[in-house]
Amino acid sequence: MSNLSFIKEEIKNACDIVELIGQFVQLKKVGKNYVGLCPFHSEKKPSFTVNPERQIFHCFGCKKGGDIFKFWMEYHNVSFFEAIKDLAERYNIQIQELSDEESEKREKLFELNEIAGSFFREMLFHPDIGKRAREYLRKRGISKELIHEIGIGYAPDSWDSLYKLFLKKRIDIKLAVEAGLLVQKEGKEEYYDRFRNRIMFPIFDIRGRIVGFGGRTIEEDITPKYLNTPETPIFHKGNLLYGINFSYKSIREEKKVIIVEGYMDWIALKRHGIENGVATLGTALTQNHIRRLKGYAEEAIVIFDSDEAGKKAALRSFPLFANEGMPAKVVILPEGHDPDTFLSQFGKEAFLNLLENSAKPLLDFCLHMQIKNGKIKDEEKSQVLKNFLQSLSFIQDSLTQGIYVSKISQFLSIREDIIWAELQKIKQGKGSDLEEEIKKEKSAKLIGDLQILSLALFHPDAIPRLITSNAKILINDSVIKEIIEAIFQEYKKNRDITPEYIHEILPDEKAKAFLREFLERPFIVYEEEEVEQAILDIERKARKKELLNCLKEKKGDIKGQNELIKILRRGGI
Ligand SMILES: [Zn+2]
Repeated sequence: MSNLSFIKEEIKNACDIVELIGQFVQLKKVGKNYVGLCPFHSEKKPSFTVNPERQIFHCFGCKKGGDIFKFWMEYHNVSFFEAIKDLAERYNIQIQELSDEESEKREKLFELNEIAGSFFREMLFHPDIGKRAREYLRKRGISKELIHEIGIGYAPDSWDSLYKLFLKKRIDIKLAVEAGLLVQKEGKEEYYDRFRNRIMFPIFDIRGRIVGFGGRTIEEDITPKYLNTPETPIFHKGNLLYGINFSYKSIREEKKVIIVEGYMDWIALKRHGIENGVATLGTALTQNHIRRLKGYAEEAIVIFDSDEAGKKAALRSFPLFANEGMPAKVVILPEGHDPDTFLSQFGKEAFLNLLENSAKPLLDFCLHMQIKNGKIKDEEKSQVLKNFLQSLSFIQDSLTQGIYVSKISQFLSIREDIIWAELQKIKQGKGSDLEEEIKKEKSAKLIGDLQILSLALFHPDAIPRLITSNAKILINDSVIKEIIEAIFQEYKKNRDITPEYIHEILPDEKAKAFLREFLERPFIVYEEEEVEQAILDIERKARKKELLNCLKEKKGDIKGQNELIKILRRGGI
């Protein structure tokens, strides 16, 4: 066994796939498997399946799947080597240096951020340099403990203090530019610090590593007020949620997440003892954000500012939540307030009360906005209806749907039955249940293929007979053929083959996905006493097919005829 596969085995032995994935996806036990909402595509009904017995996962929706390493790679967007490293570390397995170029680079970017982070912290507590910044934080009510806990720092009012530090430490300056910490002057070999005279908030990934920074100016007249790390190989705003590394445990316990608009708002929550919040990084909520959150929370409360921008953001976020099937409520704070000012003025209890009593379901809120915007012209009605119908069709619960249909009906003065009929049209257009789709896929032509696959996977004793009877020629589907060929080849080398092993060695992702799906939902399974009959059946069909092939190809040629005779003798047709 190679070193790598030895390490892989060690990790697999130490790790339980349900426990591992369960930290990122809410899983429920169904039969022998665990299911949840897929973290890789939008869905409202769980088709993401984790099989503890085989230690693999598979999504029947987007077909992603594989073992723990595959999950880690996909979920954290890391390379195979990084996945091995992360998981080895997680399960205390010693490994020698394993590396590839890409993960090495990402590793270095993390390192640079760590260096910058500790430099900023040092500067914040420098008696002179950090004085004004400390003052500012004190005024905002941010305690020393909190500063330490979330790693707040200060970038000095200088163009080159970080640059000089990097030079001193002999750090690759180009890499520091790539990390977004330095900026290169256009067309020149000159560099300067991106963050100057700003309070620095390290932004962590869920594992607590610094992926980037948010810098807030302490001079009110300087723009931009907030400056973030630009997109880098480890910093993607549309995926990141500030505070998730501190909050995810509380979010899971409370089953609820409070989403605010920036790290200052998040800090306000935290400072008042509200632990289940996250913040976007000055961007609108994305599908990715919500998909990630639904691994921890069953419900979201989104807090928007009371201004027009806040209301528009609420409207935009509706289909995102609907798409992910995550119930969401909206809270609009009283005019002129953000979470920080509200909490400072009225306190935690008042804030929680507000969430409890005036949070409106998102769709409700969006409807009310339409009313507030004044009367709707007749010619606009159909467009408004269309917008809402799309969102409505995502709601699973027909009772809730009914409530909204009646609301929309009143609101637009359109009869309910017309709305229901339109809704029905959308649903039909969207295609039927996944279950149905899978069934349809397995057309009659495939049944013969699946019979052979089922025998080869679940009754390996049948394999030698399937090989000698040349059962392969009966297979129509190229993916199944690939799997069968792999099984036959491996069987010749080693009689002890398992479905998991076949899954591992298949080179093609499509074949892997097909195999996972088949293992979960085999469609055809033979009882022990049915196996003999099934094999006989396949042997007979294979002979017939060979015969037909011969007749087609070798008509009128002596050699071909001899071949035919051989087959006839062998099979007694
Ligand atoms: Zn999926």
